[in-house]
Amino acid sequence: MVEHFIRFLKRETVQEAAWNGEVYRFRGKGTKEGFDKWFNEYAPKAPVCTSCGKLIFPGDKVGINGDEIMHLTMDCCPVGAFYAGEIDQNGQLIPAFEGGLSMGMESLRTGQGIYMTYDKKGVSVEHFDIPEVTQDEVSEALKQQRLTPPPTS
Ligand SMILES: [Zn+2]
Repeated sequence: MVEHFIRFLKRETVQEAAWNGEVYRFRGKGTKEGFDKWFNEYAPKAPVCTSCGKLIFPGDKVGINGDEIMHLTMDCCPVGAFYAGEIDQNGQLIPAFEGGLSMGMESLRTGQGIYMTYDKKGVSVEHFDIPEVTQDEVSEALKQQRLTPPPTS
């Protein structure tokens, strides 16, 4: 039983490649030759994360802020509102929003709130109306938390 499981685990191999001094490891079932061919074709056209300087690979979710593109991870882009979609096989953005906007910019464009859910089928994005909250209510809530509201000018 254990031996069978170990044989099963060994079917997946780890491939390794380097680009600009950075080593990338991938787990998969392909051959070393197939992996090297794919990596050498993809790496030159891959987007480079402006936070960590590493390549962004197909299927990676990204955040966009102006000209910057980042891995949508806590290390590279802790602001989830920059979410803009994911990267395709050619290193191009598959936009989650019209015009390749980030979630935050889409919210400003539409005046609506946005929430995302992840499941096996992928990401689904929904817009919702933001409840009206007056400035007085915000100020009162901040006072109750003993915080100073920002100056209103
Ligand atoms: Zn990064």
